[in-house]
Amino acid sequence: MTLPPNVYDAEPIPHAARAEIDKMLKSGDLFRYTAPENAPVTLLEQEFSALMGSKYALAVSSCSAALFLSLKALNLPRDARVLIPGFTFAAVPSSVVHADCVPVLCEVGDNYRIDLKDFDAKLDSTISAVIISHMRGHTSDMNAIMALCDARDIPVIEDAAHSLGTTWSGRNIGTIGKIGCFSFQSYKLVNAGEGGILITDDADLVARAVIMSGAYEHNWAKHFNGIDAELESAFARWQNQLPLYNLRLSNLSAAIIRPQLDEVPRRVSDGRSGHDHVAEQLNSSLWLHVPPALPQEERAPDSIQFNLTGLSDNDTAAFVAAAATRGIKVQVFGQSTDNARAFWNWKFLPEGIPELPQTRAMLMRACDTRLPARLTRAEQDVIAQALLDAADEVMGTQTRAYGT
Ligand SMILES: *Cc1c(COP(=O)(O)O)cnc(C)c1O
Repeated sequence: MTLPPNVYDAEPIPHAARAEIDKMLKSGDLFRYTAPENAPVTLLEQEFSALMGSKYALAVSSCSAALFLSLKALNLPRDARVLIPGFTFAAVPSSVVHADCVPVLCEVGDNYRIDLKDFDAKLDSTISAVIISHMRGHTSDMNAIMALCDARDIPVIEDAAHSLGTTWSGRNIGTIGKIGCFSFQSYKLVNAGEGGILITDDADLVARAVIMSGAYEHNWAKHFNGIDAELESAFARWQNQLPLYNLRLSNLSAAIIRPQLDEVPRRVSDGRSGHDHVAEQLNSSLWLHVPPALPQEERAPDSIQFNLTGLSDNDTAAFVAAAATRGIKVQVFGQSTDNARAFWNWKFLPEGIPELPQTRAMLMRACDTRLPARLTRAEQDVIAQALLDAADEVMGTQTRAYGT
C-alpha cells in the first residue's frame, strides 16, 4: 500500500553542486565581486537570461528583494500607487511598502486570476505601476493586461516567483512585462533555500537595479558578459546617484542554483503531468473543482488549488479535518488563522484593508495542497483518493440536490 507522501521534502541538490561548493570552501571565495570575472553569481545571471530569452538578469537575495528593486529601478516617486492582485503572498504588498509606494488591490476571480473588469476600473490615472503576481503559478490574462497597461503607458512587473517554466502563447512568463522576478526559496521550482532574480531587456532599468543591489564603486563592470555602449552610458548616468541596498546573492547560493537549471524542463513536465492527473480525478467529484488553465497557458505547477463547491463553512472545516485524518494537509487560504495570502491579514497596508468581496469569497473555499514534481503516480493517486473520500465523507456520495 502506498502511504500518503511527505510533500514538504525538497529534491536532493544535484551532485554537480558539490564539487563547486567544495572548491569555494577551500578558496573562501563566496563574494560575487572578489573574482575579477566569471563569479558563480555572474554565470548564473548569464545562464538564467539565456534560459528565459531576456537580455539582462540580476541575481539577488530573494524574489521580494527583486520586486523591491524593480519598483526602485522604475524611479517611482514616494507614495506612488502600485496596482497588485488581492490574492498574492504578503511579500508582494510588503515589497511595495518597502519601496515607499502604496499598494492598491484589485479583485481576483474564483479561477485565482485577476478580475479584468476590476483591474481596468482600478487602473486609473493615480496608478504608476502594476505588479502582476501569477499566484501559485496561475497566469492572469497577459494579453488583456498588457493592452490595458500599454495604452496607459504603465509599466508592468511580473511576479513570477511560482511561474518558472510557465509559458503564455509560447512566451516565457516573466518576459512579457517590463521586468520579471523569480524566487529560489525552497518551496519554488528551483531551491537554494533563499534567493531571487530579476530579468529585463531595459539597459537603464537593469543598471539602476544593479547599482542599488549593492554594486558599489565600479563593481557593475563584473556583471554581464561584456558591457555594451548602452549599458556603459546607463552606468555612467547612475554612478554615485543611487543608494546601495546590498541585496546581493552569495556565490554559494549560485552554485546550488546553477545545476538545477538543467532540471527545470523535467520538473516542469513531471509537475504538470502530476497536477493534471490529480485535477482530472478531483473534477469527477461534485464537491471539488479545479479551474482549467487559460488556453494560452502551459503551466508549471508544484501544488494544486481547487474550490469547494456547495460546502458551508462547517462543511469546509470538516473536509479539511477528514483530509488530515487521511494524511493529507489541505489549507483553505481564507480559513486558517493569520494566513499570509489572505488580504485581510495585511494590516500594514497604508490605506487600510479594502473590501474585495469576490476575492474574499474565493479565499473562503479555495484549497491548497502541495504536489511536488517528484511524486510517483501511486503517491499522486493516494492524494487524489484521500481528497475525494474526504469530500464524500462530509457531503455524501449522493448527487447534489438542487432546489430542495
Ligand atoms: C514565494 C513568493 C514570493 C516571495 O519570494 P521570496 O523569494 O521568498 O521573497 C513572492 N510572490 C509569490 C507569488 C511567491 O510565491
